[in-house]
Amino acid sequence: MENILGTNGLIFNEPLLWEKSTPGRCGVSIPKQDVKESLLDPELTGEAPDLPELSEIDVVRHFTRLSQWNFGLDSGMYPLGSCTMKYNPKTNEVQASRTGLANSHPLADEDVSQGALKMMYNLERHLAEVTGMDAVTLQPAAGAHGELTGILLIHAFFAKIGKQRSKIIIPDTAHGTNPASGALCGYTPVNIQSGEKGVLTPEIVAEVMDEDTAGIMITNPNTLGLFEENIKEVADIVHAKGGLVYGDGANMNAIMGIVKPGDIGIDVLHLNLHKTFSTPHGGGGPGAGPVCVVKKLEPFLPVPRVEKNGETYTLTEDRPDAFGRMLTFYGHFDVLVKAYSYLLSMGPDGLKLASQLAVLNANYIKESLKDIFELPYDRDCMHECVFSDKKQEKYHVATLDIAKRLMDYGYHPPTIYFPLVVHGSIMIEPTETESKEDIDQFIAALREIAEEAEKNPEILHSAPHIAKVSRLDEVLAARKPCLRG
Ligand SMILES: *Cc1c(COP(=O)(O)O)cnc(C)c1O
Repeated sequence: MENILGTNGLIFNEPLLWEKSTPGRCGVSIPKQDVKESLLDPELTGEAPDLPELSEIDVVRHFTRLSQWNFGLDSGMYPLGSCTMKYNPKTNEVQASRTGLANSHPLADEDVSQGALKMMYNLERHLAEVTGMDAVTLQPAAGAHGELTGILLIHAFFAKIGKQRSKIIIPDTAHGTNPASGALCGYTPVNIQSGEKGVLTPEIVAEVMDEDTAGIMITNPNTLGLFEENIKEVADIVHAKGGLVYGDGANMNAIMGIVKPGDIGIDVLHLNLHKTFSTPHGGGGPGAGPVCVVKKLEPFLPVPRVEKNGETYTLTEDRPDAFGRMLTFYGHFDVLVKAYSYLLSMGPDGLKLASQLAVLNANYIKESLKDIFELPYDRDCMHECVFSDKKQEKYHVATLDIAKRLMDYGYHPPTIYFPLVVHGSIMIEPTETESKEDIDQFIAALREIAEEAEKNPEILHSAPHIAKVSRLDEVLAARKPCLRG
């Protein structure tokens, strides 16, 4: 285990603050009182609230220790496929915390919010440029929320032309949120299978596309990490029957600066700012899922919209065809600032290079590991590659064991058992921000694990060994969650 990075170091058991409480202990020194004690509210019975009694150092240590149990991008590589867990430059955090932006208030008058409105307006224009689309809303709070917005736009479009449709096509390589978003808006998902190359074929789309189908939701690059090379033809088929093409652009990190979704037939697309555009992802939010549309869908975009009149920026609700709003105010403003800062600091060449490196890194991992892990689709991949546990089956080692063992080596496990089209899938997305040395170390760890699978499978079955908690009973954990720590 030469390549082990993980360490159990000095890890303390950490009881709840209530369990550490010592009666009479306090975090601040209060001067001796010189007035008679009296209750704040005479209606109260006099019983003190059940708050832990602790000193300042107790509290500082408690939270510092808890933070050390955590694993994040600032601690190490996080190769979680379909999630783009890349390093987010700290400068973007600095810009978002500038007083003028951080303290701006959504209810402040427009004349004192010109800077914030201008930033939002410009961000919309930049995202339109990157995606090749005509108009953008920054409101949605996340990727799936962007999908809902996008499908509501499609719904509003068909409502306006007076002929609603009932179905929506979803390929098997779409992200799992896609069928849910379609169904939430009342469309029946029609599932189709990708061809043997792991991408859509025009034939299969032509077979199911009809005039009662609102369109298709395509994740591109798809969840196998492959570029949908027939997308233009697929879009033509859908358009010929009056349908619309929804693009799930959460994986934009693979193609920004290289492919514009607007050029390949996409009518509506969401982005995940908390994947591609410098908001850390996976911490439970906030995020942002802007939705970009072609001209004919613009009238339906949620209100309010930022408008520019001369050099003045205003917010308008006066848009009769808008379907409503998706969020209070205008979206998660701090996430928008970080994306704007990221776009300006990277510039067009920087964005393109980021995508190129993301793709290079994934292909490097794919080529370096395909002799030891089954690679179901052995083709050039985009930003992520998908292996399976097929070669380890004979040692009775499964994907879950490999993922758990990686934790002992100091890595967050990759995405596992997704996408569903690959049995026992292991989906690795290194991103552009990992150096070659770090990626080589990750590859070495996985090679060592593959060797362990052959020679000492037990060590994998009971992994992780040096993590804070070892193998959990996942069914029990889901059914009877222990919320007390
Ligand atoms: C992450 C992701 C989503 C969902 O985004 P959330 O912000 O988690 O709702 C949708 N589609 C794809 C392809 C994704 O990778």
